[in-house]
Amino acid sequence: MVRRDDPAAAVWAPAVAEPAPRELCTDCGVSRMSDPKQCGQACQFIKPDYPAMELRVHGRTRDPARSDEEFFGPFRRMVRAAMKTPRENAQWTGITTRIGERLLETGAVDAVLTMAPDPLDKWKPMPVLVTKAEGMAECRGMRMGYAPSLALLEPARAMGYRRIAVIGIPCQIYALRRLEQTLGFDKIYVIGTPCSDNTTTASFHGFLDLLSDQPDTITYLEFRADYHVELRFTDGTVKEIPFLLLPISKLPPDFFPMTCRTCVDYTNTLADITVGYMGGQGEQWLLVRNQRGEELLELLGDEVKLSEPGSAGKRAAPVKGFLKNVELAAGGLPVRGMPNWLRPFMGWLMPKVGPRGLEFARARVEMKAVETVLHLRRQFPQRMKNMIPAHVWALVKPYGLEPQDGERK
Ligand SMILES: Cc1cc2nc3c(=O)[nH]c(=O)nc-3n(C[C@H](O)[C@H](O)[C@H](O)COP(=O)(O)OP(=O)(O)OC[C@H]3O[C@@H](n4cnc5c(N)ncnc54)[C@H](O)[C@@H]3O)c2cc1C
Ligand code: SF4
Ligand code: SF4
Repeated sequence: MVRRDDPAAAVWAPAVAEPAPRELCTDCGVSRMSDPKQCGQACQFIKPDYPAMELRVHGRTRDPARSDEEFFGPFRRMVRAAMKTPRENAQWTGITTRIGERLLETGAVDAVLTMAPDPLDKWKPMPVLVTKAEGMAECRGMRMGYAPSLALLEPARAMGYRRIAVIGIPCQIYALRRLEQTLGFDKIYVIGTPCSDNTTTASFHGFLDLLSDQPDTITYLEFRADYHVELRFTDGTVKEIPFLLLPISKLPPDFFPMTCRTCVDYTNTLADITVGYMGGQGEQWLLVRNQRGEELLELLGDEVKLSEPGSAGKRAAPVKGFLKNVELAAGGLPVRGMPNWLRPFMGWLMPKVGPRGLEFARARVEMKAVETVLHLRRQFPQRMKNMIPAHVWALVKPYGLEPQDGERK
């Protein structure tokens, strides 16, 4: 049970300061720390330096001879993976929270900093420090939204924790890595998940309202790699909706905040290990990025089954179509230009002929890069030269998007 006020509880959520309001900000928690000015150097949305950070964290930058590193960042190996016994209430099979449990069980860390569901709203993430392995079960599953997890680093240090693990989404992990050496911990393990198309929990409730006339009964939602959204309900029923049949046109144009349309690190390139699904063809997809990532995966021993990721289909046409739709949407949501009668057929066809496995993951990373360039150009052109790393420009070049005057350093 999450305790807001009790550091001795298995899952503790200390109170944190109110944030300073900022323009492009996902409230990762830095602005609530004792020195909010650290945002200037820590923020992914101000002046990120991915090559320098990759060098520091992984000992090298992306290797041009390994073409997938241009999409996914440095990695030692990529694998398809699943827990042999999937964990109840996990988003996929629970690899992420099981790693947290193992770190606590083996005494490798004093605490895991991650998100639990807010007791007042199960879809709202609430930052917590988990100090006992059994507490990780409460954190399973994905919640839509962001919350100030890094603000708990200072309370963690004040409690005397010296070795911690952080589970986080890319905008949180970038800031964590920037500050890592000043935080005073002996060791920080970083478990990242990919993240895209996030929105505030309040907006997300509006989406749930469109998906069901009993939105409170939805317990699970995932945008799967087979072009379907999976919904699970309290009575055990499961509903699968093809992406093309989602009520996207009914969402307000600002449903996705500008942060989440323009962030530049879909696959959490500065984590020791990234635990996602989009290259996994129905299973999970791990990117082991450095030696510490190997240690984290080893903690799972033979509880996890691993295999080679597959890849099929061609991404160029869907990415071109996406670019056209983002341009046509002129800042709104890119609704696919297609007659309604064709949508069910295309929804059936896409999982069979569209990009699959690693090609699906490459397509999604390219689409995100396209969005970053087009949305910043439209709304924050002055930010482009500092915010867009070279690898993003390289990803969009095949689609005819190149930096214009003043857009690149
Ligand atoms: C907003 C969002 C968007 C995502 N989009 C993608 C995507 O496009 N492609 C992809 O491959 N993967 C994506 N993921 C990751 C994916 O949903 C799974 O979380 C991941 O694959 C791990 O599955 P699991 O079964 O191992 O996780 P579990 O063992 O169930 O653990 C999930 C972990 O995620 C943490 N978490 C849950 N919600 C949040 C949140 N809002 N912010 C920070 N941490 C949170 C939990 O605290 C827990 O530690 C996204 C995650 C989030 C939060
Ligand atoms: S570092 Fe975090 S809190 Fe600061 S501006 Fe960036 S996202 Fe917001
Ligand atoms: S989409 Fe990007 S900016 Fe938004 S919460 Fe995820 S990592 Fe952060």
